[in-house]
Amino acid sequence: MSNIVLVIGEAQDGVLRNVTFEAIAAAKKIKSDGEVVGVLCGAQTLENQAQEMIYYGADRVVTVTDEKLENYTSDGYSQAITAVIEEESPAAIVMGHTAVGKDLTPKLAAKLDTGLVSDATDINEEDGEVVFIRPIYSGKAFEKKVITEGITFVTIRPNNIKALERDESRTGEVQAKDVDITDLRTIIKEVIRKKSEGVDLSEASVVIAGGRAVKSEEGFNSLYELADLLGAAVGASRGACDAGYCDYSLQIGQTGKVVTPDLYIAIGISGAIQHLAGMSNSKVIVAINKDPEANIFNIADYGIVGDMFEVVPKLVEELKSL
Ligand code: FAD
Repeated sequence: MSNIVLVIGEAQDGVLRNVTFEAIAAAKKIKSDGEVVGVLCGAQTLENQAQEMIYYGADRVVTVTDEKLENYTSDGYSQAITAVIEEESPAAIVMGHTAVGKDLTPKLAAKLDTGLVSDATDINEEDGEVVFIRPIYSGKAFEKKVITEGITFVTIRPNNIKALERDESRTGEVQAKDVDITDLRTIIKEVIRKKSEGVDLSEASVVIAGGRAVKSEEGFNSLYELADLLGAAVGASRGACDAGYCDYSLQIGQTGKVVTPDLYIAIGISGAIQHLAGMSNSKVIVAINKDPEANIFNIADYGIVGDMFEVVPKLVEELKSL
């Protein structure tokens, strides 16, 4: 039985996403005495990213560099990573449950003819077995899963498993692997980015989310002001997105992003079940709503019953005075 746990790293604009480091911590929970091997793909040198993985606890990192891997495609990345998996024969594979993770891991699992535990929020040891905990029914319940055969393949929800402390005294080998990537069926000609405002929503430790009550695109400006003061990311309910007050990339919920920040401030959001599916696991929830019967108060740790157009400017004023 192999002792290797492979961690598939993910970068954005050349910087590794935090969930990569959380995946290294998850790998150690799966096999405390295992060898954690990072895998990175890209078109440019991956040396710095590989070093970061080592500082966060990877024992060794394998890099695959090819111009066909400049942009993520499931075709290109699955070829590169499958070659690494075939060589390393890992006992387990871990990746973040991100947009890329959700696209890539089912394809890899199918190629490897193995199962996949997706979106784990915690990993424990019970009676000598590794148990994966994952939310079901839109976060209303949790199930525990144990893998009894084949490769342990898991994606982890960002912001749930704590990364190890970064330690520059950690050392490890970085190995470049040549993989012959065949012509891709999908070629990305150009990436047109939407204007993104500050902190990445799915990895933010504080999220300020606005609902239909925000009433306009301009109304979101006060949320951005509050977010700037708290180093937060701004999100939204589908009500706000559907009304055209903000971009759909901000939508949180069942059909939007899933977030688990330390602090979630819901402003003028009713708390529909589909919204709760994306944020109910936040560590501390604060709700501002003028309706004391609003469902969001049922899951909030702190509630302010009031008009957001009065409460938010007061919060901004108070924070500015600190
Ligand atoms: P509303 O329900 O209109 O609530 C507005 C709230 O603001 C009310 O509680 C009101 O009391 C309060 N309010 C009004 N004025 C003020 C004020 N001045 N100050 C303070 N409070 C005020 N929704 C999501 O969010 N994410 C999803 O991913 C999602 N997926 C869905 C998938 C499906 C298949 C379906 C059917 C629905 C989905 N929805 C989703 C929609 C969801 O059911 C709700 O319609 C939506 O979340 C409502 O958005 P809201 O809370 O902003 O608006």
